[in-house]
Amino acid sequence: MPKSDAVPTGGDPRRRIPRTDALLARPEVAAAAAAMGDRVVRDVVRAAQDRARIGQMAPEQVLDAVLEALGDRTASSLRPVLNATGVIVHTNLGRAPLSAAARDALQDAAGYTDVEFDLATGTRSRRGAGARAALLAACPAAEDALVVNNGAAALLLATTALAAGREVLWSRGELVEIGAGFRLAELVASAGARVREVGTTNRTHASDYREACAAATGREIGAILKVHTSNYRIEGFTSEVGIAELAEIAHQHQLPLIADLGSGLLRPESALPAEPDASAALEAGADVILTSGDKLLGGPQAGILLGRAEVIARLARHPLARAVRADKLALAALEATLAGPVPPVLAALRTDPDVLRERTDRLAARLGGRTVAHDGRVGGGGGAEVPLPGWAVALEPALAGPLRLGRPAVVATLREDACLLDLRCVPEEDDEALAEAVEAARGGSR
Ligand SMILES: *Cc1c(COP(=O)(O)O)cnc(C)c1O
Repeated sequence: MPKSDAVPTGGDPRRRIPRTDALLARPEVAAAAAAMGDRVVRDVVRAAQDRARIGQMAPEQVLDAVLEALGDRTASSLRPVLNATGVIVHTNLGRAPLSAAARDALQDAAGYTDVEFDLATGTRSRRGAGARAALLAACPAAEDALVVNNGAAALLLATTALAAGREVLWSRGELVEIGAGFRLAELVASAGARVREVGTTNRTHASDYREACAAATGREIGAILKVHTSNYRIEGFTSEVGIAELAEIAHQHQLPLIADLGSGLLRPESALPAEPDASAALEAGADVILTSGDKLLGGPQAGILLGRAEVIARLARHPLARAVRADKLALAALEATLAGPVPPVLAALRTDPDVLRERTDRLAARLGGRTVAHDGRVGGGGGAEVPLPGWAVALEPALAGPLRLGRPAVVATLREDACLLDLRCVPEEDDEALAEAVEAARGGSR
């Protein structure tokens, strides 16, 4: 007998805790099990019984607790979050929220779909042809495109296919750690290319690359790699070598130039004038550029490779390409993101501070808070240290915890003296839901 079915004997109130099979037989509970699966529902039932068993509620409350918990549950434990941090690409919160067009595309692709099939001829077709066409339309400087699982996979594939067993020239100023302790140089080395550091942390010159190339006697160098320092900035006495000059050096030595751009901007973005974009990098001579789908491009998790046709073909043929290929859902959402209206991340980036101010004032008045100046941030994948001037509602700091546990969950910024709600990344239609979440959090925390 499972533990949850054990019923103590004697005059113990725990004897009155409803049994699992009795709870599962209730029509509402059975319907939830049919919709979400038996295991999810059994977990909810067990949790309620356990709370009664340790005296957190009366046995008579178990059924109501189960019904309430089931009302909030879905088959996935991932919960929707209102991002009130002002950080646009927040990796802990799933990076880019998808556009309505991309959400619809996910839904359509969820069943059987022609991701790799030509309905006209009834034969197999190139996987993700629609996403590829949308990428080439958005970035005409690219001759071809390939979509893989994520940006790290794109870097792994490019360096492995072009430089396995050989050296990758890489500036010491660009040896990025992307987060959670993952270092790009270790990733590249793990696949068999040797990282050859050139220059210094603050200054790397064209001559450093030229000398490394000249010193190579055979074919020990496989590629030159340029990595955008997407999450930090080196300031002061610095110099780096731009793509155009690097391309010239690479091509003099018949080497490909790989540019890892991180952010996913395919064209220049006026809100981030210093951020590199794919079109400019390709026009400057990069043979292949790599970028993420879920940063400033505003789409699903994906790694995007754009570049010269023969280089992309070489990557697509490599066995690793199969191990890192993109999922049909990602391909569908990526195509819809590119073809559809401005995605939420770019809308948040370009938010008019005056509009933000009005929304913030309205929320502050309703909640009895103060409007304070608050800079938003790009977050992951670009615009490091670039402030995005805006506003936030300052409320009592005790709200931060209850807000995170509410429905919807709200993630705010906790300062010593205030809980800050920044509306930049909150869709305007959710302002009301956010206000209600604060009221509920206050109710619960009193
Ligand atoms: C984010 C980033 C990566 C990793 O991309 P993921 O999509 O997170 O795998 C690689 N390089 C740079 C420069 C990045 O900014």
